[in-house]
Amino acid sequence: MLSYLRRSWSVVNLDAIAHNVHALQARLSSPNCKLMGVVKADAYGHGDKFVADQLVRLGVRWFGVSNLEEALSLRMQGIFHPILIFGFTPADQAGVLGEYNLTQTVYSLEYGRSLQVAAEEADVTVNVHIKVDTGMSRLGFILTGQYFAEAVSEITQVCSLPRLHAEGIYTHFASADELTGDGEEFTRSQFRLFQNTVEELEARGLRFALRHCCNSAATINYPEMHLDMVRPGIALYGLAPSADCAGKLDLRPAMELFSTIAQVKTVPSGAVVSYGRCYTARRDTVIAAVAIGYADGFERELSNKARVLIRGSYAKVIGRVCMDQLMLDVTHIPGVQAGDLVTIVGADGEGSLTFDEMARLSGTISYEKICLIGKRVPRIYRRGGKDVGVADYVHRQKE
Ligand SMILES: *Cc1c(COP(=O)(O)O)cnc(C)c1O
Repeated sequence: MLSYLRRSWSVVNLDAIAHNVHALQARLSSPNCKLMGVVKADAYGHGDKFVADQLVRLGVRWFGVSNLEEALSLRMQGIFHPILIFGFTPADQAGVLGEYNLTQTVYSLEYGRSLQVAAEEADVTVNVHIKVDTGMSRLGFILTGQYFAEAVSEITQVCSLPRLHAEGIYTHFASADELTGDGEEFTRSQFRLFQNTVEELEARGLRFALRHCCNSAATINYPEMHLDMVRPGIALYGLAPSADCAGKLDLRPAMELFSTIAQVKTVPSGAVVSYGRCYTARRDTVIAAVAIGYADGFERELSNKARVLIRGSYAKVIGRVCMDQLMLDVTHIPGVQAGDLVTIVGADGEGSLTFDEMARLSGTISYEKICLIGKRVPRIYRRGGKDVGVADYVHRQKE
């Protein structure tokens, strides 16, 4: 029996992750195309330890993270497969990159040179992937328009730095999830520019073992762009990258979110609810106080907007969401009691709720919702219908 506080908790279904990996693999354009599991931001809030272990079991041999600490977190838990750091790592950490055999993104000549100097000092060689900017205007050697020739020359110089080993080159799409308007045209133009750059570099004798550009949306929508590796994140967790992508691949949401009713009471017509008194009961109202709030990831923006499930029925959030609690109108649901389970995301009876619905109501995307699940919400891992572990960030008890 796993021990965790049954206040608010999330359940991560590892079988759903397996299903999603298989669905993505079935979409790959070639059996040689690798799948990088993107596990940045603590595996999109799902907990990197159990998720990365599950991905290894499923045959995933590459991992993507945003920074050095995330990469080291994987190494510390015994993930010895290649890990690509997408974002900034101070060049003076070259020794750590080398020692832990991590792969760093190089996005400018200046950064490449600093990394070379630090690697020389630390007496290590650093594996790198070159990041090119084909239109997203984020990180990368800018390739658009007049910058093309200069970028090609700079990349050539980076590849000649003796302490850097450039085994890969990649870009990132701005609109691969947008299938209406000119999203597709823009994605195709980014891909063409990427291909032209790789050709130009090959003409200069530079070959990259790993050319990659597809996030989840592009993995799903553009198989012809898979090249040597794809980098899905959100799809691993069973969520569609956008409404345009919904239903394009059979994905199963991996995470459910639950809480508990702390108290039930009836207030008279005219009673106000929560901070700021922005909800007034219009009749005798049965109110349930629930043990989840914005510190758990239930945003205050959802005040008076969201709904949850209790005993298979929907109940509306009334009044402001507090840091640790929120209130529901449960007048229409018979028999609600303190201790009842509240489904925030997941299915209960005929009803079901998604991170997409929550995100829509608070004007954001599911990505942000799952990343914002608070660290005091334990993640319970389920495999084959059994609870197999818990990540409890407050108590640091791991299994
Ligand atoms: C986050 C990220 C991904 C994964 O994106 P999803 O939309 O979650 O699939 C891929 N590549 C890079 C460089 C990223 O930063």
